[in-house]
Amino acid sequence: MRIDIVSIFPSYFDGLTLSLLGKAQSSGILDLHVHDLRDWTFDRHRTVDDTPYGGGAGMVMKPEPWGLALDELSTSTPESRPTIIFPSPAGEVFSQATARDLATREHLLFGCGRYEGIDERVFDYAASLGEVRLISLGDYVLNGGEVAVMAMVEAIGRLIPGVVGNPESLVEESHEDGLLEYPSYTKPAVWREREVPPVLRSGDHGRVAAWRHEQQLERTRRRRPDLLAD
Ligand code: SAM
Repeated sequence: MRIDIVSIFPSYFDGLTLSLLGKAQSSGILDLHVHDLRDWTFDRHRTVDDTPYGGGAGMVMKPEPWGLALDELSTSTPESRPTIIFPSPAGEVFSQATARDLATREHLLFGCGRYEGIDERVFDYAASLGEVRLISLGDYVLNGGEVAVMAMVEAIGRLIPGVVGNPESLVEESHEDGLLEYPSYTKPAVWREREVPPVLRSGDHGRVAAWRHEQQLERTRRRRPDLLAD
């Protein structure tokens, strides 16, 4: 998979060179490129924002640099049109199902907004180059799209075949089957007077599986009853 990220703060994404996603890049599973939006500006101050038409507080990101960035990057995989993702608090809410869907794409292009956001015409123009998705991390407002894109790239990236060493571990995780994951324990069996549930040390795989499923239901009922309603 190829991923392009456009931001005015490219160094936010330095962390993507670490851990599993870093390894995925070294091994060629993930082809990740981070770009500075200001590279598509031509004035002395490398301006990317201007005042809003109609007045009001804050600045709006200008369409011209975004248009040039999208033109150039949307053709980086000539054989397929990109899925163009703009993080936005006004978008569809990101979920494990969204991550699963996006993990099947060949080319993802992320555009990180700042200030009051990006000139609305950019979204319409982007739709002529690929599928456009406006995606929210949740019902709160961040200063910019970078943190949202980091979260999305991590959630999507670990679902690309070969990124997580043992694919079994993906199957059992929270949200994969609509439930939260069961509790996990490791050695020692007793730690600060707290004992690992004896069933996990019984060696009886059937009882372990039944106990874990029961824990998933109980946890989900207690912490996220909305998931059970769904
Ligand atoms: N004025 C915008 C609004 O009320 O919808 C908020 C702009 S916000 C300060 C700047 C940028 O942060 C947005 O363009 C978007 O890229 C990003 N952002 C903020 N909150 C977000 C969220 N919950 N999910 C995804 N991106 C978010």
